[in-house]
Amino acid sequence: METTYPIGLGHNDTQTRKKADQDYVKFWEEQAENLSWFEKWDKTLQWSPPFAKWFVGGKINASYNALDVIVAKNPEKKAILWVGENGNKKELSYRELYQYVSKFANALKSLGVKKGDRITIYLPMIPELIVSMLACARIGAIHTVIFSGFSAQSIRDRVEDSKSKIIITADGGFRRGTIVQLKQVIDEAIQDLDFVENVIVFEHVNVQVSYGTKEKRWQDLVQNASPICDAEKLDSAHPLYILYTSGTTGKPKGVLHGTGGYLVHLYSTFKWVFDIKDSDIYFCTADIGWVTGHSYMAYGPLLHGTTLVMYEGAPDYPTPARMWEIISQYKVTIFYTTPTALRMFMKYGDALPNSQDLSSLRLLGTVGEPINPEVWRWYYDTIGKQKCPIVDTWWQTETGGIMLSPVPGLETIPLKPGSATKPIPGIVAAVVDENGKSLPAGTKGYLAIRQPWPGMLLSLYGDDEKYKLVYWSKYKTMYYPGDYAMQDSDGYFWMLGRADDVLKIAGHRLGTAELESGFVSYKSVAEAAVCSIPHEVKGESIIAFLVLKEGVLQTPNLKEEITSHIRKMIGPIATPDQLYFVSKLPKTRSGKIMRRLLKAIAKDEQVGDISTLEDEASVDEVRGALNELKQTIQKNKVK
Ligand code: ATP
Ligand code: MG
Repeated sequence: METTYPIGLGHNDTQTRKKADQDYVKFWEEQAENLSWFEKWDKTLQWSPPFAKWFVGGKINASYNALDVIVAKNPEKKAILWVGENGNKKELSYRELYQYVSKFANALKSLGVKKGDRITIYLPMIPELIVSMLACARIGAIHTVIFSGFSAQSIRDRVEDSKSKIIITADGGFRRGTIVQLKQVIDEAIQDLDFVENVIVFEHVNVQVSYGTKEKRWQDLVQNASPICDAEKLDSAHPLYILYTSGTTGKPKGVLHGTGGYLVHLYSTFKWVFDIKDSDIYFCTADIGWVTGHSYMAYGPLLHGTTLVMYEGAPDYPTPARMWEIISQYKVTIFYTTPTALRMFMKYGDALPNSQDLSSLRLLGTVGEPINPEVWRWYYDTIGKQKCPIVDTWWQTETGGIMLSPVPGLETIPLKPGSATKPIPGIVAAVVDENGKSLPAGTKGYLAIRQPWPGMLLSLYGDDEKYKLVYWSKYKTMYYPGDYAMQDSDGYFWMLGRADDVLKIAGHRLGTAELESGFVSYKSVAEAAVCSIPHEVKGESIIAFLVLKEGVLQTPNLKEEITSHIRKMIGPIATPDQLYFVSKLPKTRSGKIMRRLLKAIAKDEQVGDISTLEDEASVDEVRGALNELKQTIQKNKVK
């Protein structure tokens, strides 16, 4: 039995969950009352499987709820505390943000933007990114944010898919001390795309950019624009945005989210999971180019009038202590990051976080991948000083908001390192077999969601058939997220990795997360990624790629020691056939390891779509890493 951490924040609400279990539709309807609606809905849920519409007939606006509602109560409250990579700082109160957004919304209108038009946003992590999203939402335009590190081709694919009429970009952005020339990338991306009418350029880094007939300078557009712009009264199911997934399993999918249901999901989860209070300073390290940035860096916190910290650069730049310095400087109370980032911080050692005052922290969160128990404990001990609950939040771009997580804002639940605990109220999840039958405790299977939920995607943009196929064809009446999982005898969920990545060794099934956590629990291993290749006898054999902690020497026995450790931890079937030490693993910009790539390389196949890998510069880095892996494999074959 794992050690549990009975840590809570003093809440003991027994009613919320009970109500949700009794009637989930009525329950979500009650939660919807927390938002401001222009017109109330007639029907809470219209469910024509697999398409759900929430709060049908209701009229609402995301920007109105994130700005006007807060300004009416507390206009001078700080909304954004921005820290630039080069140390520049900017602060915006809710009133200032409201005016800025209104001005920019009017600027968009002056360019002919109408409700339903798609707008591509390709900006660095600066307040103008949030301003752009809220301005689109204000007038009913559909935003589609693209990571500011993506290449021209990946932007072109997305702009063509969404048929965006306007692109919002900057002259450039800072990334690890260099200037990334964003406008230049856009020029290349939209060549001959006649449907793109305008490119709006925010001058951020002061590099020369070319202004043609399509280009408009952001600063000129807002200068004389009116700071008043009434928010459009939009149907609850009006699309708020399109967001392409991380692309770890293949070509990114254009996930389409609505407004009313999505906001209700975010409002509720932000309160329950983060136990948000008026005095909190909230810091989420996600890039807005992925869903955590949309839901829990922008919309969720703003709906609650929260003060958020936004950082422009990479989490370990200019120094590996950057995050800890920011926490200490701004007295951050809630910190939300990824297991990948944590593994990196851990690799740098304890001295850096210990040199900063982290005493303001009261709650920690993680998202994006299963968190290795070893890393969880480090987060709990070294960052949280054993006083902060950790919310391990499982969800996806498609789910819009958090689905499985402890909810310390409602109740106290003993935490188990590595488990996202249980579904939030209103969500019913299960672990099932191939046929959709519930599996007993301790048996591995597929995660399934049994009933529609408010943050659920509307569809995949322009492709209802693919939507049905990807999420609703494995089980007709349940949503299929594509994750491998297990429930323990206490009902806790353990996410074991992607269903597609499951390793089948001698009749046993192993999730990538189980193995990787086994490797990471060895003292000298910082990061691990596993995949398998076909094997005549065992069916598949395990290949492991390991990154060692700083300063660890590759002694002759190290591989053997690690192998014996993993055999002890998991069993003889976990013995890797090949084990490689590498200096870095291929990751997406959102920090996820692209196992699909490792597999392709191990099998010497085409690597496929890698457009979502880190930033432009890192594509080369990754190619280098891939070559390193290839060479090692080659060398070992020769031996
Ligand atoms: P694509 O669908 O294009 O392959 P992606 O699935 O990586 O991309 P996201 O929507 O950003 O894109 O990631 C969601 C996935 O991340 C989940 O399906 C799950 O596998 C993983 N994940 C997220 N949070 C957690 C968590 N707390 N624990 C375990 N896994 C998580
Ligand atoms: Mg996915």
